[in-house]
Amino acid sequence: MMITGVDVDFIDGFNDAARSTYPDEFLCMTREIDGVISEMIILPGTVYGDCHSFLNQWMAPIDYSIAGSAHSHPGYSNQASEADLDYFRNMGGVHIITCQPYDRRSWKAYDSEGNVLDLEIVY
Ligand SMILES: [Zn+2]
Repeated sequence: MMITGVDVDFIDGFNDAARSTYPDEFLCMTREIDGVISEMIILPGTVYGDCHSFLNQWMAPIDYSIAGSAHSHPGYSNQASEADLDYFRNMGGVHIITCQPYDRRSWKAYDSEGNVLDLEIVY
């Protein structure tokens, strides 16, 4: 499934979660519906903190509606770190990083090679 957009309710909910988890990092998986990233999937037992320490412990679930992951950075950069890029490559899919101020413009989407994707917000 080609990902073409992100649902505005997903972006708002994701940023709310990022804001309430700050200064820790928020991490979830994402589900797509008809090519639009629409839902957060919170895995049980997720401990928020430095996401880079537990990202690699995750296995991609056997669920083909999983689009990828989404996580927050506690600063003003939504650039993927080296650890993020390793994880993206291992998992495949589409990955979203948001940063402060956690609004509708503060996120960036990446493909598994770390290229920035131009996804539109679907209202
Ligand atoms: Zn990161």
